[in-house]
Amino acid sequence: MNVKSTLVEQYKAMGICEEVYSYGEKTERELKERFVAIDEIAEYNQLKVIAAMQKNRVSAECFQMSSGYGYNDLGRDTLEQVYADCFHAKAALVRPQITCGTHALALALMSNLRPGDELLSPVGKPYDTLEEVIGIRPSTGSLAEYGITYRQVEFLPDGGFDFEGIKAAINEKTKLVTIQRSKGYLLRKTLSVAEIGELIRFIKGIRSDIICMVDNCYGEFVEVIEPTDVGADMVVGSLIKNPGGGLAPIGGYIVGKKECIDNAAYRLTSPGLGKEVGASLGVIQSFYQGLFQAPVVVASALKGAIFAANLYEKLGFTVLPDGRESRHDIIQAIKLGSEERLCAFCEGIQAGAPVDSYVTPEPWDMPGYDSKVIMAAGAFVQGSSIELSADGPLKEPYNVYFQGGLTWYHAKFGILMSLQKLYERNLVNKDQIC
Ligand SMILES: *Cc1c(COP(=O)(O)O)cnc(C)c1O
Repeated sequence: MNVKSTLVEQYKAMGICEEVYSYGEKTERELKERFVAIDEIAEYNQLKVIAAMQKNRVSAECFQMSSGYGYNDLGRDTLEQVYADCFHAKAALVRPQITCGTHALALALMSNLRPGDELLSPVGKPYDTLEEVIGIRPSTGSLAEYGITYRQVEFLPDGGFDFEGIKAAINEKTKLVTIQRSKGYLLRKTLSVAEIGELIRFIKGIRSDIICMVDNCYGEFVEVIEPTDVGADMVVGSLIKNPGGGLAPIGGYIVGKKECIDNAAYRLTSPGLGKEVGASLGVIQSFYQGLFQAPVVVASALKGAIFAANLYEKLGFTVLPDGRESRHDIIQAIKLGSEERLCAFCEGIQAGAPVDSYVTPEPWDMPGYDSKVIMAAGAFVQGSSIELSADGPLKEPYNVYFQGGLTWYHAKFGILMSLQKLYERNLVNKDQIC
């Protein structure tokens, strides 16, 4: 049996016409070398994870569930050392009690800052949800309510760091600097780990005692080094993104210097208790397995992002990052330019999902947004954005942001499905596809 023709038939049976399929194949062929480079990074990171597991003698006992106080939870304590070693750091806090990425970031900040201290972001506005944590938007329980002040230095117009502005913003109160790696949903560039290192060196050169924290969300395993390899004191992220590998059903992590991690542990549980309590309730095996799979999952998501960038760029859409740029996170933005295209794109992603494929995403008034938002997600873990997902606000320039894909084949199918919807509705130039 000819596998290729069987494959084409299967795509057809699942709604991808031959024109869209061959346009996809052509695009994929042009990306061969880049995919090889991504696989090499994944291979290195896979070995890094296995080495950390072996060094810490991960065993079947580690997967046993603990309940109640969770004293002497071998699996939890060993996993934290595995994370620390993976990131070449001294300590880690990796817990299901950390409910999401925002919580992990808030915890890292609130535990390491004291009243009278100042927090500095030298990379412009932080991720939306952090505005309320910091108190940029007034909010109950914010750092501002505890007398912690905040300053922000914008990027220069050319996208570089404003070193002079950063130097001027640092004063005797500056205690902690927060550096967001991913652009999130802003149209700035994502920072490479090397660029983060350059910024940390500059800040430590002014005052070596300033704590440098990195919001690592969406960045884990995209490169062969992490921010802890270039001097970060604390690196923070979510387990329902990259490092959970799609298997962790909840959780967040903080890795870094022992003192910073101890502070976070005493805040997460209680002064005096710290890391000693916190039952793992049976989720710990999925944390191990997710971390084990994460390098390959991240590679799949990256291939999907690059595939989509090239597919849509050739059709005349502006894509960010562009089709050739080096990657430092898994997010892809495409400027679709109309409401019809944005909705069609999201419908395609939804239709290609393994879960909830039969529902049609509808734009809705999401709290905290000034326009309707459309979202596509057919995920095993609710809200998981390491799984293929897309969303965008219904306003000019009708950008869709999408990320994830647990397997490359699913990412490819979902993206082809998005294009199929646009194709069927005459929302793209058909001549360029045929
Ligand atoms: C997702 C994300 C967060 C917040 O994580 P949640 O799990 O959604 O709370 C913070 N910063 C960045 C850059 C992110 O991408």
